[in-house]
Amino acid sequence: MKLLDQLTQDLAELDARGLRRVRQVVQTPCAPHQTVDGQSRLNFSSNDYLGLAKHPQVLAALQEGVSLYGAGSGASHLISGHSLAHEQLENKLAQLYAPHIPQARALSLCTGYMANLAVLSALTAGAGDAEIFSDALNHASIIDGARLSRAKVTVYPHLDVNTLRAQLRISQAATKLVVTDSVFSMDGHIAPLPELLRLCEAEGAWLVVDDAHGFGVLGRSGLGAIEHVDLHSPNLVLMGTLGKAAGVAGAFVAAHATVIECLVQRARAYIYTTAAPPALAHAVLTSLDIITGAQGMALRAHLNDLLAVWQTGVADTLPSQDDAAQAPWLMTSATPIQPLVVGDNRAVMRASQALLDQGLWVTGIRTPTVPQGTARLRITFSAAHTHDDVARLIEGLRALSFTPGMALTAEAA
Ligand SMILES: *Cc1c(COP(=O)(O)O)cnc(C)c1O
Repeated sequence: MKLLDQLTQDLAELDARGLRRVRQVVQTPCAPHQTVDGQSRLNFSSNDYLGLAKHPQVLAALQEGVSLYGAGSGASHLISGHSLAHEQLENKLAQLYAPHIPQARALSLCTGYMANLAVLSALTAGAGDAEIFSDALNHASIIDGARLSRAKVTVYPHLDVNTLRAQLRISQAATKLVVTDSVFSMDGHIAPLPELLRLCEAEGAWLVVDDAHGFGVLGRSGLGAIEHVDLHSPNLVLMGTLGKAAGVAGAFVAAHATVIECLVQRARAYIYTTAAPPALAHAVLTSLDIITGAQGMALRAHLNDLLAVWQTGVADTLPSQDDAAQAPWLMTSATPIQPLVVGDNRAVMRASQALLDQGLWVTGIRTPTVPQGTARLRITFSAAHTHDDVARLIEGLRALSFTPGMALTAEAA
């Protein structure tokens, strides 16, 4: 019983620190209006930025994929699990990114988490030592990928290109790799990609961009952050996820054909896992058509409208924002991620619960996902939301009593 006692004690400690997490059982499809525990909720917590998770064309494609390819792939890609649907998806992505990456090729992977593990380990596995330079606020999957790679890892302060430059210049490593979220998942900040790319080219480093939250959302045709700022380079390695704005599941890496071939040959997170169900890749092909076509443009325009409505409405709701160090404060961004920083772990959970009591689902994010003292309501918008939905959220926040100086007394609501 000793082992279990230790775990029980660890869990009690999480409780004591207000850090115990609980899952909620969703009974209906991912969409703004959902049923959870028999109650209806308005969701502002998903990453389904374009509302494609329940889009009729995507659902029809998924069903068609099942009839064409069955349920599972049956094996890993290098054995017998690489289907025509995976191949078509990779060819389509390669074609889409050709304007940004010379000799572009793409690889589809089961998840974004695995894609980051694959890229960071495969690119640093060659002869000679390698060093990974990673933004301090990068996603957990990047942190884990960097650790797994066994390369030297150097963390640079969030968005700090000057410090990164100094770090790159003193590095003796044969292979240098800079990795960053394009849109920081818990903040909505966009990385200074043009500056980072210039630096990487000058210093002979790879730039790995994790576009989990930019793909589908940013760029004229929804190709994400690198289209948004129009990057072109053979040094660019792009990772995108297909379970967020694309509404399905999986991920891809787009890069020079040689990089992709290297992933196929030595990325263990790609090689040693069963290929995702081909039907998913088949459905993603339809998501890509929507994202890059007229519908995608209309969805992004609507999403931007909602952001404008939100930013005006919320400005009147929160206490004076003169002192940005005072919580709660809104981290405005040009993305659908609009966090409201509360600060304290328990206060954020009280606020989240008070919103839930009004049928509004906004997840509280605590440490270690975000730095201690910056617990936040991570509010996300989707093109599936309406103006009324946004108005309801603003009303809901108004019913909470925020007082300056972090004392958020959500119980009063
Ligand atoms: C969600 C996310 C991932 C992981 O992608 P999955 O497909 O969900 O595994 C990687 N990086 C960032 C920045 C993310 O937000």
